Amino acid sequence: MTDAPALLPVEDARARVLERVDPLSPEWVPLDDALGRALAEDVVARRTLPPWDNSAMDGYAVRAADLTRPLPVRLSVGETVYAGHVPTRPLQDGECARIMTGAPLPPGTDAVVMREKTRAAEGPGDAVDILEAVAVGTFVRPRGEEARAGEVLLPRGTPLGIPELGLLWAQGLGAARVPRRPRVAILSTGDELCRPDEPPEGRIVDTNAPALALAVRRAGGVASLLGIARDTRADVEAALARAEGFDVVLTSAGVSVGERDFVKDALEALGVQRHFWRVAIKPGKPLLVGTRGATLFLGLPGNPTSSLVTFELFVRPALRRMLGHVQVEPPRVPGRLEGALSKPPGLAHFIRVSAAWREGELWAHPLATQTSGVLRSAALATHLLHFPQAANSLAHGAHVELLPLSWVG
Ligand code: AMP
Ligand code: MG
Repeated sequence: MTDAPALLPVEDARARVLERVDPLSPEWVPLDDALGRALAEDVVARRTLPPWDNSAMDGYAVRAADLTRPLPVRLSVGETVYAGHVPTRPLQDGECARIMTGAPLPPGTDAVVMREKTRAAEGPGDAVDILEAVAVGTFVRPRGEEARAGEVLLPRGTPLGIPELGLLWAQGLGAARVPRRPRVAILSTGDELCRPDEPPEGRIVDTNAPALALAVRRAGGVASLLGIARDTRADVEAALARAEGFDVVLTSAGVSVGERDFVKDALEALGVQRHFWRVAIKPGKPLLVGTRGATLFLGLPGNPTSSLVTFELFVRPALRRMLGHVQVEPPRVPGRLEGALSKPPGLAHFIRVSAAWREGELWAHPLATQTSGVLRSAALATHLLHFPQAANSLAHGAHVELLPLSWVG
């Protein structure tokens, strides 16, 4: 395996990852548990909804043509239709029906006058004075406005948000067919690491594994921790060899050019085909991506913030594609830079910023510490500011691209 000399631009690197990934096999999930999943196939409506023309207001169902006479027009009230009730008969000429929101329109009526535009008529019998003429269709919610039986109600790839689930419940469906959740193995590597529950005794706590596990879970995957491999090729190889049956294997650390960075060699020995190593970004430059069969391997850098940033830029998009989402790229919003930034060209920088809305715009304040070796530099960040690869300075007030972070609490 030769080391790739050129650094890949971030967009190319992400495209190469996504090119290797497809939605996973579908499963049925009860709607109660389907929030945030994406549809594996089109959902076709089996009910026409609403099933009948119904009123959008409390008022009077009328024949619009009856109101062409000089106002007010007195109509006798033939019946009262409540929501959940069915009109008993078609209306006769000169008649209207008192109607509540959601109640079906009696046959023969074609518009609704809101109650506020009427006055109870003086005198015997149930009658009403209509104070305002209405056009045909006014305040009528037509049959089939929500869904027509046989049409595609929600196409494949639709993320199931709360209203989407409401539409499925209204169709009488109890479950949705969605790609299964990706199974993600996480391996930490490093002689200096100990588990969070161990006394450190000169070591540092492995924070990458639990942090990445949470990031995986938040992205919709199922995380399994493979523990900590020591910095020997044999140990890294043995740990990776145990990672069978996963859709994604994430390693952290040991992927740079250190003398004891064995992740590259171990992956090669296990027959993982390397697609690229190193991306023109900071933090996160040493990222390695490969596949073996249907399993995607991502060697993430060891610095805590670097591993989280590469998760946002590469791992989350891959998991989203596996989960069947159409929108998989990191989301971006426009913002303005508070202060000024400079860097040498060559790497795109993803600057941790805390962004707040001010005077109609999102102003991004770069956090004081941008080191990738500590998590504290990622805490308090709300977005990553994309400082493009070719640029070397950004002035105060510059229009910038901000990536909202999925790790925010
Ligand atoms: P490496 O890529 O192995 O050179 O590691 C880069 C830096 O990240 C070193 O300072 C490591 O101690 C640190 N590091 C590596 N793995 C972890 C981890 N799992 N949790 C926290 N820090 C780590
Ligand atoms: Mg190391």
